[in-house]
Amino acid sequence: MKAVCWMGKSKVETLTVADPKLLNPHDAIIKVTRTAICGSDLHLYDGFIPTMESGDILGHEFMGVVEEVGKEVTNLRRGDRVVVPFTIACGNCLFCKKKIWAACDNSNPNAHLMEAAYGYSGSGLFGYSHMMGGYAGGQAQYARVPFANVGPLKIESDLPDEKVLFLSDIFPTGYMAAENAQIQPGDTVAVWGCGPVGQFAIASAFMLGAARVIAIDRLPERLEMARSLGAITVDYSEEDVSVLTALKDLTGGIGPDACIDAVGLEAHSAQLQGTYDKVKVALMMETDRPSVLRQAIQAVRKGGTLSVPGVYGGLLDKVPFGAAFGKGITMKMGQTNMHNYMKPLLERIEKRQIDPSYIISHRITIEQAPEMYKVWRDKKENVTKIVIDPWADAAA
Ligand SMILES: [Zn+2]
Ligand SMILES: [Zn+2]
Repeated sequence: MKAVCWMGKSKVETLTVADPKLLNPHDAIIKVTRTAICGSDLHLYDGFIPTMESGDILGHEFMGVVEEVGKEVTNLRRGDRVVVPFTIACGNCLFCKKKIWAACDNSNPNAHLMEAAYGYSGSGLFGYSHMMGGYAGGQAQYARVPFANVGPLKIESDLPDEKVLFLSDIFPTGYMAAENAQIQPGDTVAVWGCGPVGQFAIASAFMLGAARVIAIDRLPERLEMARSLGAITVDYSEEDVSVLTALKDLTGGIGPDACIDAVGLEAHSAQLQGTYDKVKVALMMETDRPSVLRQAIQAVRKGGTLSVPGVYGGLLDKVPFGAAFGKGITMKMGQTNMHNYMKPLLERIEKRQIDPSYIISHRITIEQAPEMYKVWRDKKENVTKIVIDPWADAAA
């Protein structure tokens, strides 16, 4: 089959590789009909995530048709159409029983690697390094899905792939970010990063009762998309714009009730601290560039909530924890507990409350993926979201 493979930092190739096989009785093999490139794939592309190996198949946002199931798979049959969540959960451990699916204790066979760095391991993830389980990803024509009774969501309506594909990650992730922001009706919510997760966080914040959403980014196409959802926008790249001052001005000096950091570890900053972080990361004295996190802690109102869906990987420098303590803020974060959100959000799509396909800017073949990783990283061609049809132009 054809698959998009990580071949080293800033190097991705579409290669012909072996088809996946059932390895366990609870596995399913999915014929992938649509898959997407995610913002967090760029952390792999940029070499920020350790334990990638040359030839690893990328991709954690995919859907398709069940091709084959192991003998213990009772919920799915060949021919079922499914969306697969990016986190892999067993359904039976303490954490799965508590519905903290992203903390599943059974789905990461390389948990010891995570434990060495983090104390504990989260769940395994598709296409996201050996530390996260070493599972082949879904930017391919087929994928093996472990614990297939637990994760895949059956699509029984005739909704097109593009409308449901983002249930695999970014829509639930944006929604959980808004839920974690503990929004009360009438609140003002600030969202840093108007990429796909930020867009769904904005839409979800409104669904959860926010009166105002202030969206912060520097790319015109993303800010435009945020405005189309009803957000007020702040372009931090404009001269004379201080995000902190703008947020104060827009909230009568109080600060937003909730702040959402949908950027994560590769934040850009026009300020001195941006240079500081670049230097420290280059010297390996810091692993992440937390300028958005710093700003969000400073901006949020006293007693407010900070929600972090953006990915962080390691050790952060100069995080104003004293301000967080002094203001008594709540912080909520982490990988998305996908399985809690996929079904309810599918219902919202079916009821036409939202059509997630609005964020797609590029539809490509699997052969075009390597060049599009570069476009995505460099934010060229007004890119907002790239969807791959792994069978287009391919002699199946
Ligand atoms: Zn993703
Ligand atoms: Zn589990």
